[in-house]
Amino acid sequence: MKIAELRVHLEDGSMTARQVIDSYLERIEARDQTIGAFLEVFAADARLQADEIDSRRARGEVLGPLAGIPVAIKDNIVMQGKTATGGSAILESYTSPYDATVIARLKAADALLIGRTNLDEFGCGSSTESGAFGVTKNPLDLMRTPGGSSGGSAAAVAAEFVPVALGSETGGSVRQPASLCGVVGFKPTYGHVSRYGLMAYASSLDHIGTFATCVEDVAEVMRVIGGKDEKDTTSTEADLVFPEFSEDVRGKRIGVPKQFFNDTLDPELVKRVRDAIATFEQAGAVVIELDLPILEYALAMYYIVAMAELSSNLNRYDGLQYGSVVPGSTIVEQVRATRTAGFGTEVKRRILIGTYVLSAGHVDAYYKKAVAARQSLCNALDDVWEEVDVIMGPTSPVVAWPLGEKMDDPVTMYLADIYTVVANLAGIPGLSIPCGTVDHLPVGLQIMGPRGADARVLDMGYWYQQHSTCS
Ligand code: GLN
Repeated sequence: MKIAELRVHLEDGSMTARQVIDSYLERIEARDQTIGAFLEVFAADARLQADEIDSRRARGEVLGPLAGIPVAIKDNIVMQGKTATGGSAILESYTSPYDATVIARLKAADALLIGRTNLDEFGCGSSTESGAFGVTKNPLDLMRTPGGSSGGSAAAVAAEFVPVALGSETGGSVRQPASLCGVVGFKPTYGHVSRYGLMAYASSLDHIGTFATCVEDVAEVMRVIGGKDEKDTTSTEADLVFPEFSEDVRGKRIGVPKQFFNDTLDPELVKRVRDAIATFEQAGAVVIELDLPILEYALAMYYIVAMAELSSNLNRYDGLQYGSVVPGSTIVEQVRATRTAGFGTEVKRRILIGTYVLSAGHVDAYYKKAVAARQSLCNALDDVWEEVDVIMGPTSPVVAWPLGEKMDDPVTMYLADIYTVVANLAGIPGLSIPCGTVDHLPVGLQIMGPRGADARVLDMGYWYQQHSTCS
């Protein structure tokens, strides 16, 4: 059910918050053993909280905007008093002493935090298979991946375990799994949502984003979690008062970069995305083909910058400050033993590559070049916004693939992010919305806009949702 529908039931008394949470918990109990979306379900807490909301409502108290709405949280966003693992064995025994800002805001809005969801270790992956605590399966086809790294949150929404869930994105980890699971996924402008309490992967690329079954619900959650936060110096004021969604796309200019449609894509996938864009054109939008050669370098820039930042961010996991420790006879041995035992293969690979691209002999050739190229990409996009209002293309070059298929081939796995990393590098808003299926597997249409134009991106997504039969 959508938030608005739940709210009607909660407000007219046809359902209590307790009944709402019980029905979601029942679905989780029935199916999550097979899907593996959750690492932990806070059933008792959520029921208690729901009862409290019901009594406050009975007393006539004014309740928050998400009163009684269940929300699932990716397990790299910390909640006070709860285990927070980031999908890593190194944090298996870590309990957070504080709430992330988004969590504090959800609590203040009376949302029901229902549990923490599975992910790739510290967000490093595109399939939710690299975490230390098991694999998540795609609810639409249990032999396939839900995408990643926020695959647990995407699967939770797709399986109707929750109406909405939070995920995080460094290179597409909300939009890509949303696309593979057939739900809506949104990443706001960099800074619009505070990162305080989000475990850092690559700080200049990290964002918190939202999964839902419709665009309105993404907007509802954004209103609650977004906006300036003193605890994150990169956070900015955000225009969160999304205007009424418009009914009209006449004259809207849609840029379609030819680099988003290379020859290796499945023609059926291309057709779904092209048909979706044609829906806008038929309603009076203007479609402009773009040639942006710099997009071909986005993935290379991304993986250099992301791994460089990861390698320094993960330095904090030394067994002295957080999580588990493997004893050693000297401090150096202890740190080495702790990190060797605590990190998984993919994270270790990335720490090595990240350290390499930052090392004295290579920093000019790799890291500095990638940072300069990133600036050129941002400049190229700034020019594009003179010509078009939004950019559209596929979210992912592939539909959900069989579990395990890309695990031994990291480069093929990295290629899954080829269209999403652009928005992280440039800090611009991006939305993935279902636009049909290929062999019963969902395809996502990606919509991006200039920095700060989050409402415009959501508006276009809403229009599509109202005019297609896909979502
Ligand atoms: N799959 C990408 C990576 O592995 C993106 C992950 C993310 O957005 N957290 O880096």
